[in-house]
Amino acid sequence: MVEQDFEKGRRLPFPDLVILDRDGVINQDSSAYIKSRDEWIPIPGSLEAMARLHQAGVKIGIATNQRGIALGLYDHQALEEMHQKMTALLSDVGGAIDEIAFCTADDPLHPDRKPNPGMLLTIIKALDLPQTSVIYFVGDKSSDVAAAENATLQSDYRVIPVLVRTGNGIKSEKKLNDRERLTYNDLASFVDALLFDSSDLSALSTEE
Ligand SMILES: [Mg+2]
Repeated sequence: MVEQDFEKGRRLPFPDLVILDRDGVINQDSSAYIKSRDEWIPIPGSLEAMARLHQAGVKIGIATNQRGIALGLYDHQALEEMHQKMTALLSDVGGAIDEIAFCTADDPLHPDRKPNPGMLLTIIKALDLPQTSVIYFVGDKSSDVAAAENATLQSDYRVIPVLVRTGNGIKSEKKLNDRERLTYNDLASFVDALLFDSSDLSALSTEE
């Protein structure tokens, strides 16, 4: 499948850090919220893609709005169990997560609630990355794209938004069709593109 790049013919810069939205990117989302360990079901290929990134030396963060806790639909214990399941399944395929940030607030003005960039900036700071770092944020909603843009506006880092068509992604793509941006069918396709581009670059440099 040929994917659409926002700058055609340009290679994707190899990342220092890839931050991921959770629901609709790593696992199946539901309009009824993901409320338990049993409801947390990975999207096919997503965990393997995270493992490939990890093995390529890329740091991985997760930034997830979890206002279902503020709404009383599940509690911190249930969220912890979901993340234990995610971490265990990821470990089984050779992956690991460097930082997980979540925001349980329902208040749209909360600095951590996407589209606000608080969680992204917290992850970047926790990993102590230089300002020249290449950082992507992969999400399935317009609020994810906006969070990446806001992180760039409100810090000295550049966070490149990536939209995937899993979860709410197809709806978001229609809503966001005003501008070109990196858009992939799913997380696995994005990681394929990232790692293919970089292996291709190293192949070129050894020929010189
Ligand atoms: Mg999502």
